[in-house]
Amino acid sequence: MSKVKYYYDPDTLSYRKIEPEKSKRYRNIAFFFLGSFLFGLLGLILLLNTNIINTPRELSLQREVKNYELQFELLNKKMEQIEDVLANIEDRDNNIYRLYFEANPIPEEQRRAGFGGINRYKSLEGFNNSEMVIATTQRLDIIKKQMAIQSKSLDEITKLAEEKEKLLMSIPAIQPINNEDLTRMASGYGWRSDPFTKARKMHYGMDFTAPKGTPIYASGNGEVTRADNNSSGYGKHIRIDHGYGYISLYGHLSNYNVKVGQKVKRGDLIGFVGSTGRSEAPHLHYEVWKDGDRINPINFYYGSLSPEEFENMLKYANQENQSLD
Ligand SMILES: [Zn+2]
Repeated sequence: MSKVKYYYDPDTLSYRKIEPEKSKRYRNIAFFFLGSFLFGLLGLILLLNTNIINTPRELSLQREVKNYELQFELLNKKMEQIEDVLANIEDRDNNIYRLYFEANPIPEEQRRAGFGGINRYKSLEGFNNSEMVIATTQRLDIIKKQMAIQSKSLDEITKLAEEKEKLLMSIPAIQPINNEDLTRMASGYGWRSDPFTKARKMHYGMDFTAPKGTPIYASGNGEVTRADNNSSGYGKHIRIDHGYGYISLYGHLSNYNVKVGQKVKRGDLIGFVGSTGRSEAPHLHYEVWKDGDRINPINFYYGSLSPEEFENMLKYANQENQSLD
C-alpha cells in the first residue's frame, strides 16, 4: 500500500503525487485483511474436504466405521457356520427322516428361497456400506426362513412318526400264543387236507396246537368287533379290528376274556384255547385279514420270534399236512 500514485496536471504540465485521504487508506487496509481472511478460510474448507487433513472427530469416526466393518465380517463368518449346521440338518431331514416316513423331500430352491415382491432392503440403500449391510441382512433373512421351514418339517416328521408308531402297534404282528405253551405249530396257511373230509382245500389261517385253556393274546392294538359263536366253523371266536384295513381272527376258543367294543393292546389276554366249532382237537385257528382278504399271518411275526424260531415255524407252516381247521 505504500505504492505512490501520480496524476498528470495539465496546468503545470507535470506529474503530481496523489495524496490518498486517510480514511480511504484505512478502508483499503481493512478490505485487504478481510479478503485475506476469507481467502484463507476458503482454503481451509477445501483442505478439510479433501481428506488431507482430518479432525480428531473424523479420525475417531473412521476408526468406528472400520470396527463396524470388522464386526460385520465376523458376523458373516458365524452365519457361515450356522449355514453349515443347517445344511447338515436339512440333509438328514430330506434323506433320512422324510425318506423313512415316505414324505417328499423339500426342494433346495424352496429351502433357500429369498423374499420376492417389495424391496425389503430399500431403507438400507444409498450409504457407502449399503452393499455389505444389505448382503448380511439378506443372508440372515434366508437363514431365518430356512430355520422356519426346517422347524415345520420336523413338526410334520413328529406327526408322521406318531402315526407310524400307531400303525406299527396296530398291525397284527406277534404270534398270538406263547412259544412255550405250544405243543406244536400244527398247520400253516395254504393248501391242506381237511381233517374231516380229507379233501384238499385252502386253509386260510394258521393252527397252533396247545392244551385247552392256554392263553391267547391280541396280536396288535385294536377294538374287539366280534366275540361270539355265530360264524359257521370258527366256533367261539374273536375278531379284532386294528384299523388300516387289518382284522385278526381267533377261532375255536374255549372261553373269552374280552367283550365286543373293548379296546385292546398288543399282548392283552383275550381268550383261551379250546376246540369249539369245526375243530378236531384243541388248537387256535388264527387268521389275518387285510382289506377284506385273508392273508398269510406268517409274514407278520417279525416282532415276537427269534430268527431260529421263525425259521422253525416257517418249516412247519409250509408242510402240506392235515390242518386242524
Ligand atoms: Zn385252522
